[in-house]
Formats: sequence, C-alpha cells, structure tokens
Amino acid sequence: MSRIIATKNLSVYYDKIEVLHDISFTVNSGDFIGLVGPNGAGKTTLVKAILGLIPASSGKIELFNNDQNKFNSWGKIGYLPQKNSTINSLFPATVLEIVMLGLMSQKKSPKRITKNDRMKAQEILDKLNISDLKDKMISKLSGGQQQKVLLARALVSNPELLIFDEPSTALDPQSRESFFEMINKLNKDLGIAIILITHDTAYIGEYANELLYIDKDLIYFGSFADFCRSEKMGAYFGNYEQHAICHQHNH
Ligand code: ADP
Repeated sequence: MSRIIATKNLSVYYDKIEVLHDISFTVNSGDFIGLVGPNGAGKTTLVKAILGLIPASSGKIELFNNDQNKFNSWGKIGYLPQKNSTINSLFPATVLEIVMLGLMSQKKSPKRITKNDRMKAQEILDKLNISDLKDKMISKLSGGQQQKVLLARALVSNPELLIFDEPSTALDPQSRESFFEMINKLNKDLGIAIILITHDTAYIGEYANELLYIDKDLIYFGSFADFCRSEKMGAYFGNYEQHAICHQHNH
C-alpha cells in the first residue's frame, strides 16, 4: 500500500474568506473515497488545491510522497470535472481527438500526436466499449456517452488516482448506476484509487470504502463502518441522516 495524497492542516482562503479549515487526510493506493458535504462546503476547492489549481493558504499537500511544489508526474492523477465545464457544445473535436488530448500534459514540446498515441487512445475506447463513437463530434453525444469519453481521456495516461467531481448529476438514474459500476470496476479490477465528490449520500456507501465529509472543517474521515457506528456522528447529523448515509452500506 503506498501513499498517494496527504494533506496536513490544509486551509484555503478566497480573498479574506476561509473556505477550508485545517483539513488533514490521506489517500492510499486502492482507496475509494466518497467526498461529501453540503453545497459550498469546499469540496471542489479541496480538489483544486490538491491539483495545484489554487494555492494552499496554510498547511501542506503531499502527492506520491513529494511536496506538491516538487511533484511533476501529473499524468498519475486524472481529474474529471463537472460535466459541461469542459465540453462546450460547440467544441469542434472528435472523440478520438479528445482522448488523445489526455496524453498531451505529459509531453515535452513539441507536443505532437504520434501513431502510438493514436493506438493508446483506440485501446482505451475499446476497453470502455465506445470505439464506435471515435469519429463522432463530442458535442453530438448524450450526457452518458460524454462522461465515458472524458473518462477515456483521463484513463489514457494510466493514472493511479482518478478524481471525479459530481459525475452523476447530469445523468439519468440508469446511466448513473452504470457509471458508478464502471468507476467501481476501475477501482476493484485495475486498483485505481478513486475520490468521488457526490451528492448521492444514499448511494455512495455501496461503492466507497471511506467517507470524507467536509463542511469547511473536516467533519469525518474514516471507514463507512466506523461512521455508521459513531455516536458522535449520530449526534452531529441526527440519527435519520446518519442512517440515510449508512443504509446502502454493506461492506
Ligand atoms: P462545493 O464544491 O462543496 O460546493 P466550493 O469549493 O465550490 O464548494 O466552494 C466553497 C466556497 O468557496 C463557497 O462558499 C463558494 O462560494 C466559494 N468559492 C468557490 N470558488 C470561489 C472563487 N473562485 N472565488 C471566491 N469564492 C469562491
């Protein structure tokens, strides 16, 4: 088991407003972490801080046992932002092109696409059963198909950690279920660690083995089993809410 992320006493401010306070948690290889909290709790901010997109105001972030400032293997971390934040309906690219873009971040200039890149992209499309979409314009696809393409783009660089920001909101219940299943497979079969930001507190315990609940502060970090047994959490959330998070949990 190796360490992928460690944050220590991490705080983040936007201007003078603190939106994350004293967050310490760890992610190890193979973990599946459900990142939950109310709207505006700082979930996206936490992910952006981990990815180095916004600076930590205090505290530390380590990635693969390196200080974040010294870390440069960004291909090991795949990030799937909320739908529509990347796919503009007019974005003129095919599925295969989008997936090949996932290889660009690791290249030194000149950033050219090679035959090998094309093959890798093709392989991933095969794996996800969407190679029939490869020449389609991304904007013409359904929400569920677009999600798969973004997943293919993230997977093409063989990441060890995938971070999903609210993947299920744009999907109908059936696509959502199959998307969760797919994430679960990536975790269980390929051993890719997962952080999944979700509103689906009723579902997440079915898949994730750890719960990270933040509301500016870290409210809980640990196993679902311990969360469900915790009297402190029962008191914090009320027994009804605690039960709602726990009832699907069957690990
Ligand atoms: P969540 O993902 O849990 O909904 P966010 O991380 O998006 O929460 O936001 C946390 C808080 O930070 C919210 O109060 C939000 O309004 C604020 N916030 C988010 N982005 C910015 C920004 N770029 N500038 C200022 N405030 C922001």
